[in-house]
Amino acid sequence: MRALELVGFDGPASLRIADRPEPLPGPGQVRVRLRASALNHLDVFVTRGLPKRPLPAILGADGAGVIDAVGPAVQRRRSGDEVVIYPVVSCGACEWCARREEVHCEKFGILGEHLDGTFQESLVVAERAAFTRPQQLDWHGAAALPLSFLTAWRLLFTRGRLESGDTLVIVGIGGGVALAALLLGKAHGLRVFATSRDPAKLERAKALGADGAYPSDGFAKSVRDATGGAGARAVVDTIGPSTFDESFRALAREGVLLTVGSTSGPKVELTLPRLFFRHLSLVTSTMGTSREFEAMLADVDRYHIRPVVDATYPLVKGPDAFARLEGGEQFGKIVLDIAS
Ligand SMILES: [Zn+2]
Repeated sequence: MRALELVGFDGPASLRIADRPEPLPGPGQVRVRLRASALNHLDVFVTRGLPKRPLPAILGADGAGVIDAVGPAVQRRRSGDEVVIYPVVSCGACEWCARREEVHCEKFGILGEHLDGTFQESLVVAERAAFTRPQQLDWHGAAALPLSFLTAWRLLFTRGRLESGDTLVIVGIGGGVALAALLLGKAHGLRVFATSRDPAKLERAKALGADGAYPSDGFAKSVRDATGGAGARAVVDTIGPSTFDESFRALAREGVLLTVGSTSGPKVELTLPRLFFRHLSLVTSTMGTSREFEAMLADVDRYHIRPVVDATYPLVKGPDAFARLEGGEQFGKIVLDIAS
């Protein structure tokens, strides 16, 4: 079978197509014949050696396909099932895993970052990681869901405790988690504002349901003006150092800055009095539990949510797909069509 292998840490140029033996499912495992997978910033970071995985490596957290083999002791799944893959890797045996709080498992990992992922034709996963795919989405849409929608769902509703009527600002609309937060937020009745440096992205955000969309420069004032001076209940900021200060300025008293990533760098400087005099919180998260994955998939069905796909590439054009994500011009998910 074909796989997109990473053989160095020089970015997209370090990816190549390789031939690998067809994997066999062990006890409790199923083999998924992948139809489509999708890229995340995580994958790009690994091509630059952050972190340095042993090579050659197969990246990819997002994937959807058809089960074509089941191992011994598999109970619920059978060949022919159409599934999306829960992208968290965990031990499956500890107390956290038993409670389905996999994000706290000592062995917590992410498919493609800690072990071989979805950028190949066949992948063996634990039976418990295979979930029925939403029927109203095609394969590209289904593959675009897992990591970004799971991450946004936990961030907004479990960690951020946002409810219908709350005002949410999404900084830097266009990436996977930001767009998932927009679509999930609107489905749950939030009032959502988006920001971007790119006027075209602001227009697209409004077309997707954003209640307001503002240029990145000085967006806190725009949010204050739109909320009668109060500010927002929450801000999703996955950018970090270059936007954190402005994000805090956009919050209402007792507001919450929600973050799951920092694409502009790992370190920020905070003006603490601005935080405590306004009773602000910083709430963080990574990925989500299998229960949250289930709840997210149910929302996608209930609210007919369709993830935004920016572009689709065949597996052999994987390096081009990585270059597009690294360039930062995308609006929506970059999908690999594994079958073509
Ligand atoms: Zn565990």
